[in-house]
Amino acid sequence: MLAEVIAIGDELTSGQRLDTNSQWISQQLGEVGVRVLYHSTCGDDLDGCAQVFQTALQRADLVIATGGLGPTADDLTRQAISQAAGLDLVLDEDSLEHIRSMFASRGRTMPEQNSIQAMFPTGSTIIPNPHGTAPGIDLLFRQTGHEASRLFALPGVPAEMKQMWTETVSPRIKNMKGTSDQIIRHYQLKCFGLGESDLESRLPDLIRRGRSPSVGITVHQGTITLRITATGSDEAECRQQMQPTIDTIHDCLGDIVFGDEDDELEHSVDNLLQAGQQTLAVYEAGTGGMITHWFGEMHPATPHFLGGIVGLDRTSAERILDLALPATLSSEDATRALAQAVRNKYQADIGLAVSPFPRPGQDNGHFYVATAGDVETRCQSFLFAGHPDILKPLAAKRALNFLRLHLKK
Ligand code: ATP
Repeated sequence: MLAEVIAIGDELTSGQRLDTNSQWISQQLGEVGVRVLYHSTCGDDLDGCAQVFQTALQRADLVIATGGLGPTADDLTRQAISQAAGLDLVLDEDSLEHIRSMFASRGRTMPEQNSIQAMFPTGSTIIPNPHGTAPGIDLLFRQTGHEASRLFALPGVPAEMKQMWTETVSPRIKNMKGTSDQIIRHYQLKCFGLGESDLESRLPDLIRRGRSPSVGITVHQGTITLRITATGSDEAECRQQMQPTIDTIHDCLGDIVFGDEDDELEHSVDNLLQAGQQTLAVYEAGTGGMITHWFGEMHPATPHFLGGIVGLDRTSAERILDLALPATLSSEDATRALAQAVRNKYQADIGLAVSPFPRPGQDNGHFYVATAGDVETRCQSFLFAGHPDILKPLAAKRALNFLRLHLKK
């Protein structure tokens, strides 16, 4: 069974509000084993919405819409459904009574325009809305030459929509022919240190369309996420299906995989510090405090990160760390000295230092990362290249990854 989620409202298409309802609904459909193939968003326009509904009813078995069920002139969902399906709107007396009583319970008289919320396309069933005035619409739509499609329209207010989903829509979907007792589960492996295509080439045939379980690949600021998706009767069966794929990915990628699910590189470093009962201090020139910030954001706070010093000025670094540095901080010698000095300053087990970045426009410029422990100091240079928007987080991740690989040895 294929589903389409439709979100309606000018506040969504104008970018004023993020469409979190569609995200939530898709997650819920995954829970009951229904695959969502389309998301559509339409502003408050009658013909536009009618067209979106018409298309959805032709290409999806299940259509879930949110928004536009209110009483105002810009709430057009019921009219759009009626136009798309060619069905008249008829008054439902019970719903009208419910809306009147909602107003009465708040000490108000129902404005006449609210009666539109008690109008439903012929043949539809009502979805009760215990805490709001707008009931939802449940319509089984039959058209010649097509399988019947089921349409659920819910209000946009997230709290109302979610309650109506849980109490009414989800049980009705589970009873539909074509849905099974299957659930859909996802599991993410996080990777760093290879480009997207290099990484894919190391995973023979895993990212093939139609494979089960499927493996998807996304990249964010150098971090590559492999998302494995399986369908099964319960959590355990999904996991069992995924396990051989997870094992293959680990075998093919080794140290490139640093974590799973919501892990970032700092979590992986923190786990390794925890395992070795070690502490860390950092000196950040080019990364401007980004690594310190990431550790500071960790929840709960980590006892393994002792602190960070940020600065591009050599004289200040010399004064704070009480040492003499080479003439430029952008050198291997200076970065090694900074890693050792920050380690001493904080009395940490490990010092990590990142040099300043090369100046903009400097071709093939490099920056340096050093780690200092009690017996040795290692330093590596990295090419400072990539899209300008992600250069800094990418460099911070390179530094953390260098430290991670060092801690793993
Ligand atoms: P109402 O009866 O309150 O008018 P409605 O069905 O007409 O309900 P809207 O007017 O479209 O819903 O939206 C009501 C509220 O819900 C607004 O604050 C809106 O920003 C929010 N909302 C609507 N759609 C979404 C969505 N897709 N994701 C997140 N929030 C949404």
